[in-house]
Amino acid sequence: MDYSTHENVALGSPCTAIMRYRQMKDELMEILACPVCKGTLELTVTERDDREIVTGSLYCSTCDFHYPIKDTIPNLLPPDMQD
Ligand SMILES: [Zn+2]
Repeated sequence: MDYSTHENVALGSPCTAIMRYRQMKDELMEILACPVCKGTLELTVTERDDREIVTGSLYCSTCDFHYPIKDTIPNLLPPDMQD
């Protein structure tokens, strides 16, 4: 497999660019909701740089579950699909 070609295609996608932009913003919280109950998520930032949240978690008090944020990417898989 030609990995470099694959990566260029992915990075050139407008959809990917929008997702990357959104992940950098604190307005993250206005976009994301709990995938189970659609409730509001409470953001906890463990590590951040100037513009983006690097590591942290999104907590749903209704489900009593923390969705991890790792390398700026929120993992919003339902609890039974997390690692
Ligand atoms: Zn929930």
